Amino acid sequence: MSKENILIINCGSSSMKFAVINPATGEEAINGIAERLGSPESLIRWKFEGNKEREELNGGAHDAAVAALLSMLADKGLKDSIAAVGHRVVHGGETFKESCLVNEEVMQAIENCSHLAPLHNPANLIGIKAAQKHFPGLPMSVVFDTSFHQTMPEHAYIYPLPYEFYRDHGVRKYGFHGTSYRFVAKRVCEMLNLEVSNSKVIIGHLGNGASAAAVLNGEGVDTTMGLTPLEGLVMGTRCGNVDPNIYSFLNKEYGYSLDEITDILNKKSGLLGMSELSNDCRAIEEACEEGNKQAQLAMDVFCYVLAKQLAGLMVATGGCDALAFTGGIGENSDAIRGKVLEMLGFMGFEMDAQKNLDCRFGNEGVITSDSSKATAIVVSTNEELMIAKDTAILIG
Ligand code: AMP
Repeated sequence: MSKENILIINCGSSSMKFAVINPATGEEAINGIAERLGSPESLIRWKFEGNKEREELNGGAHDAAVAALLSMLADKGLKDSIAAVGHRVVHGGETFKESCLVNEEVMQAIENCSHLAPLHNPANLIGIKAAQKHFPGLPMSVVFDTSFHQTMPEHAYIYPLPYEFYRDHGVRKYGFHGTSYRFVAKRVCEMLNLEVSNSKVIIGHLGNGASAAAVLNGEGVDTTMGLTPLEGLVMGTRCGNVDPNIYSFLNKEYGYSLDEITDILNKKSGLLGMSELSNDCRAIEEACEEGNKQAQLAMDVFCYVLAKQLAGLMVATGGCDALAFTGGIGENSDAIRGKVLEMLGFMGFEMDAQKNLDCRFGNEGVITSDSSKATAIVVSTNEELMIAKDTAILIG
């Protein structure tokens, strides 16, 4: 059997997403997720040839999930088609400016970045070690969420804090969703016949976690997320930009602890916090249609902050050849795209309502009118394919 596929592994603290992808064709042979790892309800489920299947892991964690994945892939006749494993890693700090093959030194460097992403990097390392154990001999690569943004100029990533915090502790803006931005920026240029080396692209990656980035001539030059994914846009449960004094205010006036405030800002704010209803954009849109005022407010704040930050990013590129929407919300919510384009109308964006409606559920395309002075486009992101392609290049 020809080794044409790459196994993609994306480990969280209690979950592991996976897919087997052909990097040349983009074809996905199988995908799935192992969830509630380490709890009595742990299980692995997958979709293969249109069928959904699952297997209990009986309290097993990442190691059990990778073992189950291996035997399932062997069952399906896919094991021998795998040439390498590509791992998604959240934080590469300033060390990793691009994807690379795994060796001892790389593992140590990922570990050294763990203080920057304490919930994610340790889980990513566990996934790599489990894959090394169960898929011995297969080359492994790591693809970082942060590396695309490593080309940001100093004035974009330095926080106006005492410089020692950057020098001594690495406190700066890093940015995330980089694998998606790399994929989408390239795709936008292909779709619009733009030369990558002469392009100004602004991208909104709008999912439950949301950020936006400015891409100049194919390189990341600014982004909305920061040291952590909390900064920037309003998200499903994250607040995005707020006055940092909220910490001392809530602590001193109302006795909330640091951990409680961090939890509130990350998990109880955003669409969920404002609407007191849901973090899910679809549920918010439905509630708006039913006349729910708080859902409407959540939607208004989401769109206003988004439009304002997208416009701000255009300072980094000095203009905009294309504004791209991607992620679950960006690819599907004609309502949010419509509102944002209306607010950016003064910059020359003129939406085509029919095109905007057509570009949903996997349909990509331009959503501004033929006479629009500025172009907005919907692109389906594919981070897994990007990881597969990087891995294929790294193994030659
Ligand atoms: P992601 O994190 O990229 O999977 O995106 C998840 C977000 O996309 C959730 O807030 C969903 O509600 C939103 N989403 C998915 N489909 C739609 C849709 N048809 N209309 C509006 N939002 C959607």
